[in-house]
Amino acid sequence: MINPPHSGIVVVGSANMDVVFSVERIPVPGETLIADSVAKYPGGKGLNQAVAAARSGGDTVFVGALGADENGDELFATMSDSGIDSTLVRRVDVESGQAFIVVADSAENTIIVASGANAEVMALTAEERDRVTSSAVLLAQLELPLEVVIESAREARAAGTTVMLNAAPARALPDELIDILDYLIVNEHEACLLGGSDDLAEASVRLAARVPQVIVTLGAEGSVLYQGGRELARVPARRVMAIDTTGAGDTYCGAFATAIAAGRGLTDAAAFATAASALSVQKLGAVPSIPARDRIDAMLG
Ligand code: ATP
Repeated sequence: MINPPHSGIVVVGSANMDVVFSVERIPVPGETLIADSVAKYPGGKGLNQAVAAARSGGDTVFVGALGADENGDELFATMSDSGIDSTLVRRVDVESGQAFIVVADSAENTIIVASGANAEVMALTAEERDRVTSSAVLLAQLELPLEVVIESAREARAAGTTVMLNAAPARALPDELIDILDYLIVNEHEACLLGGSDDLAEASVRLAARVPQVIVTLGAEGSVLYQGGRELARVPARRVMAIDTTGAGDTYCGAFATAIAAGRGLTDAAAFATAASALSVQKLGAVPSIPARDRIDAMLG
């Protein structure tokens, strides 16, 4: 029997409604402040990355859970409007995930996440497992229970699906997960934590000794690519006027997954992701700022 070819991207991840309070300054314990404004935006690392993968041209399916509430309806609509295959999305009887974000005039922020429905995804269903094993790329983050991240990575690995982890938010990880990754994408803080060193270069090389491809993103400084245990290339960020960098990392991950699923090499995929994330910092909000394929191609020339 001929195995069907693996294709597309499966994002196993979170979806949250972000509630953003704009205040003059971050309140101190016990203090009540009146916000200048409050706004709601679809978010969550899983959803942001799935939107980035789909808008950048990847055939993308989302595995995760939403509550059977109004926020869940809005998050579901965001998926459908972005071209994500949402047929496997679970609707569960708890509130959708929410992130309460307080942003001060200084741009400092404080975030509290209520996982809600995301915490219900403890194990894959049979259908979800089938999509993981038939996709070209699994893209996961760390906002779902770790058990399901590990299970997804194991299933993907056994089936020959490329395993990509954006290890955010930062947390310690078991060896059994790190050792089955094909790609690890981390920012500076996450690299140092997982690599066990305050020295970024040392931490990165330690990670690169364990994961075949490691990408360390450095904000406006760009990203560094490691392959086969050593540094392969430094990719400078595009010089643009940044308005809001929220979701730059998520845009990078989603676009990178699209390029890898399409068979592009590491350096080429990083250039594509760098252009996508540079476009995303030029507009307010995470999901609204994630660019479509034609704009990424136009930037690459
Ligand atoms: P976040 O959590 O805010 O989404 P992150 O820490 O995961 O971000 P960053 O390293 O800040 O990710 O950014 C990812 C990529 O986005 C960078 O490698 C870079 O290519 C691009 N980028 C970020 N900030 C800028 C900027 N000011 N100008 C141009 N490109 C940027």
